[in-house]
Amino acid sequence: MTMRLINHPILCNYYLTYRCNAKCNFCDIWEVPSPYANLEVAKENLKDLKRLGVKVIDFTGGEPLLHRQIDSILEYAKGLGFVTTLTTNTLLYPKWSEKISGKVDMLHFSLDYYDSEKHNKARGVDCYDHVMQSIEISRDLGERPDILFTVFEDNVNEIAGVYEKICVPNNLMMILKPEFEYNQVQSGPILSNHTLDVISQWGKKSLVYLNEAFIQLRRDGGNHIKDPVCKAASSTIVISPENKLILPCYHLGEKSYDINGGLFDLYHSFEVEEQIKLEGRLPECEGCVINCYMQPSFAVEVNKYWYKALRSTIKYSWKKGTWKAVVNF
Ligand code: SF4
Ligand code: SF4
Repeated sequence: MTMRLINHPILCNYYLTYRCNAKCNFCDIWEVPSPYANLEVAKENLKDLKRLGVKVIDFTGGEPLLHRQIDSILEYAKGLGFVTTLTTNTLLYPKWSEKISGKVDMLHFSLDYYDSEKHNKARGVDCYDHVMQSIEISRDLGERPDILFTVFEDNVNEIAGVYEKICVPNNLMMILKPEFEYNQVQSGPILSNHTLDVISQWGKKSLVYLNEAFIQLRRDGGNHIKDPVCKAASSTIVISPENKLILPCYHLGEKSYDINGGLFDLYHSFEVEEQIKLEGRLPECEGCVINCYMQPSFAVEVNKYWYKALRSTIKYSWKKGTWKAVVNF
């Protein structure tokens, strides 16, 4: 039995640009030619997102720190009372660190290997040393970044090194994110049951955040179009750098609509509402495990995933002291 808890979008995945200064072998977004989101346009959209009931804005990309006014955008979002989150490959963090300090509630540094050569190879650029440097800089600024570790079949054995040698000594949380297929790029073999067990075990450790619902969803074969758990479009608003509303999710991107200063009305228009109804029900949705949409999906409806997700959310908020900010998410 399921019960819908929240009937408005709670998250915005705001794509500030699709450009990236890395070339990860599991991602093809950096191949997409892209502009940068306009600051004044972003401000208008943020005001409408507030009216729509959104609580959390994930400023994403591409690499969000490539945006030359990222500090102003973050400041404006914070001023409106949003919880802000940003994930970076850290190449530009040292440059931006002071200007964005205190403006990102959930700051994530991507690191997928303890072995520097392997990390740099997977990312297609030498960024390992930047991660280490960024950890030091952020500590001096009093920030508490998290290490975001995307787990593949081939790097599961690297979790120990990153956890013991980097996270524990620096008192940083490690977020384990099981991989999913990124657009058309094959990111290696689908995670085996054994790997899922190993990830689950790590999730029990102090300082490790794992949304157990992600593991459960994989064991259940992902989203099923007959009874979809995905609530991508009704829980999450996706905005592109070209200022378009993308539906039902970025990865499927079936439809896009020009926002033109009218996000609130557009989101409530008949056409968009019809699109929202298709979330999780399109042929490509069968078996989908895309974390970015499943996380908010698990938050808006009470079902078995909701319970699993809640436990880890409480642990994260407790450790990070962001309880108040996240409790409504
Ligand atoms: S995964 Fe992130 S850092 Fe890597 S190429 Fe894609 S957008 Fe850039
Ligand atoms: S099931 Fe996956 S592909 Fe389908 S709408 Fe949801 S997130 Fe997008």
